[in-house]
This record gives sequence, structure tokens and C-alpha cells, in this order.
Amino acid sequence: MNNTGISWTDYTWNPVSGCSKVSPGCQNCYAEAWSHRWGRSFDVTLHPEKLKEVRKIPAGSKVFVNSMSDLFHPRVPTKFINQVFQAMETRPDVIFQILTKRPEEIHLRVPNLRPFPRNVWLGVSVEMRMYIGRIDELIATGWKYGESEGHHGVKFVSFEPLLGDIGTVKFHFSLAEGVSWVIIGGESGPHHRPMNIEWARNLIIQAKEQGVAVWMKQLGGFRPGGNIVDFPEDLRLREFPEYEKEVKP
Ligand code: SF4
Repeated sequence: MNNTGISWTDYTWNPVSGCSKVSPGCQNCYAEAWSHRWGRSFDVTLHPEKLKEVRKIPAGSKVFVNSMSDLFHPRVPTKFINQVFQAMETRPDVIFQILTKRPEEIHLRVPNLRPFPRNVWLGVSVEMRMYIGRIDELIATGWKYGESEGHHGVKFVSFEPLLGDIGTVKFHFSLAEGVSWVIIGGESGPHHRPMNIEWARNLIIQAKEQGVAVWMKQLGGFRPGGNIVDFPEDLRLREFPEYEKEVKP
């Protein structure tokens, strides 16, 4: 478990490290760059010894699971994902935020996958319009667990790095079943690709029309400031979805 500068969470926890690129949003992968900088492999690696770290997480925290990987990478065995789920179940007073670019992997594993714990927020990354189908996959996943297991966890979409205009988004905005939180951010680092501020505005307008919480993370750039007072006024949004209040002790 580590402290983090990621504004929408409190800690990162990496029971898996390493990954492989799946779409253009991965081009300047932070996790890969970090691994290479420290001479470490970026192959998918399981860290079962980290499962017990959940005991140390302060109550009421938010934890980003696998900031250095993708929990649903094809090379992560379902058995290990179930162990991660079991570890999260032992801390119902903590919110675990899982973000994937591979929601289709969840469907493939459903017969052998434990139900999502109630304290999990499950999200997909969508960087360009051509990957908008990931939102449909996310919603379908929630339905499966929602009906059979009483799961009402938050489903969310991270539009970061936002690389193009997403256009009209069908978020399926019913808070019980649909997406209730969106994160928006431009790309950072020396090779960042610019975000047009109108792409962010388009998403914010649609989210606000349908009562969805928005977390505007950063505008993008070499060293993007995360201070929202530097954003245009209509982009100064740092909201969490309602569900947060229900799981706090
Ligand atoms: S899915 Fe995430 S961790 Fe994996 S290569 Fe892409 S950006 Fe990196």
C-alpha cells in the first residue's frame, strides 16, 4: 500500500504489477515508464504477499487497486483475482477502486469469478470514441452482479488520457445500474498528447444533464498542475458519487 498523488484516491495497492498495451491510451503508460526507470520487469507479476496489506488501510479510505497493472489482464489467473476479492471483502469499511481497459475479460471469467464485493467501485478507461463499447461492457457486468448478488457498487468511467472528442455518450444513467461517476484528464509527461478543452466540456455537459458526479483531474501537459483553481471556471469539478457515504463506518 502506498501514498499517492492521484487526486481521486487516498492510496494505491498493487497485488499485481506489469501489463501489456491494449489501446492508444497505453502509449505513454506511466507504469511501464516507472518500471523501466527502476530496472524492473513490466511482465505481469503476482504479489500474493501484498494481499495481507489490506489490514493496514485506515478505515474510510479509498484505494486504487493495481495502479501499475490491470487486474483483468489475461495473464492474471482468475484464482488470484478471487483472492484479491476475498482480501477486499475483509475491509468493508474501505472503498476499493478498480479500473480496467479489459471489461470483456470479466465476462469471460464470470463462471469462476466471485461476486464483486459491495465496497468495490468498478471502472473502465475510455480514451477515444472507438473504445466507448467498454462502457456497455461495464454496465452489462454490473447487471450480472447487481441482480444476483445485490451489488450496488459504483460504476465509473475514466476519460484519461482524453485523446479525442468522445461525442454523445450513452452512460445508461440510472444510478442503481449505470455509471454514476466520471473522471476526466489530459495526458501528462514529456510525450503528452494535447487535450482539447472542448472535449472535456462536452463530457461534463452530458454528465451534469444526467446527474452524474464529475472529477476533473487535470488539463494535461508536461507537468500538469492538479490545482483546480487554475482550470477554467466551468471545469472546476471534484465530486464523488453518493455511494461513498454508505460504506464509510
Ligand atoms: S492497461 Fe494501463 S497499465 Fe496496462 S499498459 Fe495500458 S496504461 Fe499501462
